[in-house]
Amino acid sequence: MDFDFDEEHELFRKSLEKFVENEVLPVAQEIDEKGKFPHELFKKAGDLGYFGLRYPTEYGGTDGDSIMFCILCEELARGSLSFATGVMMQALQSTHFPFKSGTEEQRQKYIVPAIKGEKMGAFALTEPDAGTDLGSLRTTADKDGDEYVLNGTKAWTTNAQVADFFTVLAVTDKEKKLRGVDFFLVERDNPGLTVGKDVQKLGLRGTETAELVLEDCRIPKENLLGEEGTGYDSLMDILAEIRIMTGALSVGLARSALDMGVRYANERVQFGRPIGKFQAVRMKLADVATELEAAKFLVYYSAWLMDKGRKCTKEAAMAKLFATEMAVKATDEVSRVFASYGFSMEYPIQILLRDARFLIIGGGTSEILGLIIGRELGL
Ligand SMILES: Cc1cc2nc3c(=O)[nH]c(=O)nc-3n(C[C@H](O)[C@H](O)[C@H](O)COP(=O)(O)OP(=O)(O)OC[C@H]3O[C@@H](n4cnc5c(N)ncnc54)[C@H](O)[C@@H]3O)c2cc1C
Repeated sequence: MDFDFDEEHELFRKSLEKFVENEVLPVAQEIDEKGKFPHELFKKAGDLGYFGLRYPTEYGGTDGDSIMFCILCEELARGSLSFATGVMMQALQSTHFPFKSGTEEQRQKYIVPAIKGEKMGAFALTEPDAGTDLGSLRTTADKDGDEYVLNGTKAWTTNAQVADFFTVLAVTDKEKKLRGVDFFLVERDNPGLTVGKDVQKLGLRGTETAELVLEDCRIPKENLLGEEGTGYDSLMDILAEIRIMTGALSVGLARSALDMGVRYANERVQFGRPIGKFQAVRMKLADVATELEAAKFLVYYSAWLMDKGRKCTKEAAMAKLFATEMAVKATDEVSRVFASYGFSMEYPIQILLRDARFLIIGGGTSEILGLIIGRELGL
């Protein structure tokens, strides 16, 4: 039994802490207020190799393990959940499928520059009428000679406005239901692909989110990622990782909320003493800290299982469910400690309160995670 991070992990965390203190925290509020993708910060993240953390060195990556990736997500989310989510989308969802199933030429053309931050990717799965229920996907990909023709509309595509390429999920064989869906690589300037306008969101305002319209969008047949009919299995393969990393984002965001709460409770004086001296306030923050610690263990334990190559479907779902709900609760509790100042746009706790809502949606809603855990229990 060993609860210590190894030296490489510790050094990586320390370097991230510095990056977050010096580069992310000073602009976090501005990122939220502007509601625009933070290009400069992304460039720095690319230069520092964050997008290539889980990819082999021969493609410019650093071959890091899942624990390392958790540390990245946690520390960046402590600075800005918008930025951290954007980094995770680039380093995981948007590049995973072209890397795993793309040709060597596609890896060189998309993955190598994506790792450097020179090309942005986006991941288009959700549709206006198909979120959790992938069985009702309507976007189709029909084979026509040496091409596929894509038609349909995607919703909620993160970073769509700035993406150079998209990983798009489409139906190749309606009869086969979930076994008849596949991932395709579509370039931004491919005729037939249109990016809609930015969705105005409650939180995560430093990510730009849009609808994608595919209208007789013809792509070469080589842009099918993997064998036809394998899209669903490929997606299932990566879900545990997405869930663990979303748990890590939640831990980072909640740490930031707790820090703000403790600082404020020590500074704010009512009835002649800092409010942190009142038992009710102290208990509130003690509960936040305790649940945060529990979430951290679930997240890192799941990542450890993944690094050992062990099955972790249940643990990853638990980690995401517990950590994301914890983050929502933590931001709510800390906001109560701030009272009216938590309601003011001047104090950053309001950003965390809004941003945290995303965590309980993306990567599987809490309800769905409950169903998965139940299934794993044999129910
Ligand atoms: C900021 C943001 C960024 C996003 N970025 C991306 C992206 O880059 N790419 C992408 O493809 N998608 C993205 N999404 C979409 C996200 O993945 C979906 O919103 C998510 O899958 C849920 O789908 P939905 O919103 O359509 O909800 P629905 O599936 O309609 O669910 C609505 C409610 O019903 C519940 N529900 C549904 N089915 C069941 C069931 N069987 N049992 C019990 N309860 C059920 C859900 O838990 C939820 O509470 C993003 C979303 C947000 C908010």
